[in-house]
Amino acid sequence: MAKISIKNLNVFYKNIQALKNINLDVETNEILGIIGPSNSGKSSLLQVINRLSEMNNSKVTGEILLDNESIFSLPINSLRKRVGLIFATPTVLPGSIYKNVTYGPKLHKKFKKSELDELVYFALNTADLWNEVKDRLQESASKLSGGQQQRLCIARILALKPEVIMMDEPCSGLDPISTAKIESTMVSLKDKYTFILVTNNTKQAARVSSRVAFFLSGEMIEIDKTEKMFTNPKDKRTNDYISGRFG
Ligand code: ADP
Ligand code: MG
Repeated sequence: MAKISIKNLNVFYKNIQALKNINLDVETNEILGIIGPSNSGKSSLLQVINRLSEMNNSKVTGEILLDNESIFSLPINSLRKRVGLIFATPTVLPGSIYKNVTYGPKLHKKFKKSELDELVYFALNTADLWNEVKDRLQESASKLSGGQQQRLCIARILALKPEVIMMDEPCSGLDPISTAKIESTMVSLKDKYTFILVTNNTKQAARVSSRVAFFLSGEMIEIDKTEKMFTNPKDKRTNDYISGRFG
């Protein structure tokens, strides 16, 4: 059974159709890479899966199932706890590193102090940030570098014990070392979570994805195993994009 099953999905903004009849299954424990040039609908796809589309006056038709249940009938807080979204620009909360990690979980249930400490260690360590911040957990998160802030955003999502982690060009503003840390974190976690990685960096998709989907002008042109996609794509437009002829 697919973790997420998208059926006949259309997303319309006022006079633009951002997604056109998308049919796509995201398998449990895969890293699905989504590539394509700007304006191909990649961000719209992640946003509708998180139901952020409800905040921007878009019209959505079709169905999205999470474990065979419509996301549109789930309580929104439960959906967003189960399916986390990381944005291109890291957005830390005002306040300490510790508070950034504990804020979300505390909205969902009560914890003892020792449980929170454990959760903070788990999330920061899993996001490959613990060693860099363990001596300054009470300092402001905004003092961290961009790459550290993005790993803190990942830690915040991990602290919610999600099932699916979606990332929208998570490394686009980051240095190569932070990028490598985020990529290795994803690969090391893929047996426990399902990832959807939108990236404008085809090499990144090639490095970490199990499968890759190519989007263009709101259509899903092609989806295949990563190696097949990058060596022998079916569609000429995929080939033109991955070989750098446009985009
Ligand atoms: P990508 O992430 O691949 O760059 P987007 O999903 O952001 O693509 O955009 C797809 C199309 O939808 C583009 O033409 C974009 O201008 C349009 N679009 C995206 N968000 C909005 C919005 N909130 N209001 C109106 N149009 C939007
Ligand atoms: Mg985008």
